[in-house]
Amino acid sequence: MAVFIASDGSFPDPSSYDCFVIGSGPAGITTAVTLAEANRKVLLFESGNDDRERRTMPNARNTGHFRDGWWDRHSIRGLGGTSQVWSGWCASLMERDFNNPAAGVRWPIARSELFPYYRRAAPILDRSPSILDPEKPWIPGFLYRPYSRLRPTRFGARYLDLLRDSPAIHVALSTSVLSLDADMGRSAVSGLTCLRHEGDARLQLAIQPGQPVVLAAGGIGNPMLLLQPRPDGGVPVGSESGLVGRFLMEHPHLRRTVELVLDEDLYQRRASEEFGRARHAFVADDEHAAAHGLLGCSVVSYSKSTDDPMVEYLSWKYGKPFFHYGTEVRGEMLPAPSNRVFLTRERNRAGLYRPTVNCLVGADDLLSIERTLRHLARSLIETGKGRVRIDSERLRRGVSGGGHLMGTTRMGATPSDSVVDRDCRVHGYRNLFVAGSSVFPSGGYANPTLTIVALALRLADTIASGR
Ligand SMILES: Cc1cc2nc3c(=O)[nH]c(=O)nc-3n(C[C@H](O)[C@H](O)[C@H](O)COP(=O)(O)OP(=O)(O)OC[C@H]3O[C@@H](n4cnc5c(N)ncnc54)[C@H](O)[C@@H]3O)c2cc1C
Repeated sequence: MAVFIASDGSFPDPSSYDCFVIGSGPAGITTAVTLAEANRKVLLFESGNDDRERRTMPNARNTGHFRDGWWDRHSIRGLGGTSQVWSGWCASLMERDFNNPAAGVRWPIARSELFPYYRRAAPILDRSPSILDPEKPWIPGFLYRPYSRLRPTRFGARYLDLLRDSPAIHVALSTSVLSLDADMGRSAVSGLTCLRHEGDARLQLAIQPGQPVVLAAGGIGNPMLLLQPRPDGGVPVGSESGLVGRFLMEHPHLRRTVELVLDEDLYQRRASEEFGRARHAFVADDEHAAAHGLLGCSVVSYSKSTDDPMVEYLSWKYGKPFFHYGTEVRGEMLPAPSNRVFLTRERNRAGLYRPTVNCLVGADDLLSIERTLRHLARSLIETGKGRVRIDSERLRRGVSGGGHLMGTTRMGATPSDSVVDRDCRVHGYRNLFVAGSSVFPSGGYANPTLTIVALALRLADTIASGR
């Protein structure tokens, strides 16, 4: 992999690029490649390398629910970013996720506006757009809404040749961006300071207002960079809203907490080849969720058996076969300002101040999961289609996550409620944009990467159109 640095260690003249993208995960590579397809010349920075991951860089400390290096383990440094380890589960956000009174959140864009980008995003993740309309009515109030699971797309490996050969994209590997400078009026980014890890060379790049800078450094990396203090003690560039780092969300996962007994052999439901392996799952429909103020929650079947007393009982009672399913429940977290990324006084080896993370799954989040399960139980009993068994103790104690880091540079209408606007442009800045799940104002229950890629495509279109 060529690193496009001149022989004296300097970058080519920054004025020869149309755009700068910081981070080469799914968000950064999608943005860079789409801009290159629109004849823009892009310099892509990646603090990791092309052949090995470097896990040590975000160096977050944790307090709260997700401890023991959770955020480090789920922020991979290297070409392709965290797509080096993701699992390849895909689902789109639901209609209600974009306007969710239960979460107190309204995205400034509607699902219908993102839908054409979802259609373009699916093939980038190696599947067909048919994965976008998987839902089928099931029992009153609930839908069958499976996840598409295929071999995960590793962005570094997939785009390696293209990035090496493309005349339109230059990649600065092993190069961390350390800080952003702005013009006097703080209306545009005017400079980037970066560090080439090989040789520890610091470089200063002058940026013009017409050259967009896209921050695509991940859910912890984006706020980490925007929060870095300025030498003059002033507010860091892009942090004027005071909201950078706040509203961090994960998806609470509950394993071995809920069992289903259903009158259906789910494994007889076959998905098309492009859909991949369907992970069978059930969710409340939009109407039911709105009527009862439910947050996102999906019950995913993991294992099937017929060896269960409830299977025997229901088969006898209803005179038809029943099946037992072990499940994983994936829920939504309410965005809370106290769940946040902030900086410690310690620096990492690049000289960046290390972040610390406080993130607690709230009682309301868990209660909403429990309420959804009770609604599901009622509907199954009323229709004679099955039962739900809930381990309430585990439901409160057994919370894990999915490695989905969302919300830390949230999108909204004004600087008083958000960091970026509907175009993912940092409020007040002409040429500073953010890509990735850090812009999600709410996260629903669905894995984020399909939505990350859709938003990156939309952002690249916005930039290419000069808006
Ligand atoms: C174990 C695991 C399983 C997962 N499974 C799924 C799944 O099944 N489905 C799903 O949808 N999602 C899944 N995810 C989440 C998914 O991996 C992320 O949503 C996705 O990778 C985020 O993409 P991104 O481009 O925003 O950030 P990242 O992929 O994190 O990329 C950010 C990049 O920016 C670079 N960077 C950071 N700071 C700087 C800097 N200052 N200068 C230069 N470069 C910088 C980093 O080195 C990194 O390469 C999973 C995550 C994990 C950890």
